[in-house]
Amino acid sequence: MSARQKYRLRAASKREIVREVDPNKVYVDRDSGEEFEIVGKLLPLAPSISDLPWAVENLRLCGCSLEQLAPKDVNDCPHCGRRLPAVER
Ligand SMILES: [Zn+2]
Repeated sequence: MSARQKYRLRAASKREIVREVDPNKVYVDRDSGEEFEIVGKLLPLAPSISDLPWAVENLRLCGCSLEQLAPKDVNDCPHCGRRLPAVER
């Protein structure tokens, strides 16, 4: 379970990081000293049942007739509630 929204931050040098953001803080690249700018919200939007970014490598088919994608770090399909088999790592 992830209650905090994650954001994609980008520095002037195009370096990107992904993290939760405190709107009162300024985030600076430790290597270059450049300030990070928020360029996007990461899917899934918080609050989410999954901690993983919504990306192909973090998703799998739940196997039910709905043929929906489920994040790999959840135990039950978010669409049908079916118990998902353990993920091989
Ligand atoms: Zn399902």
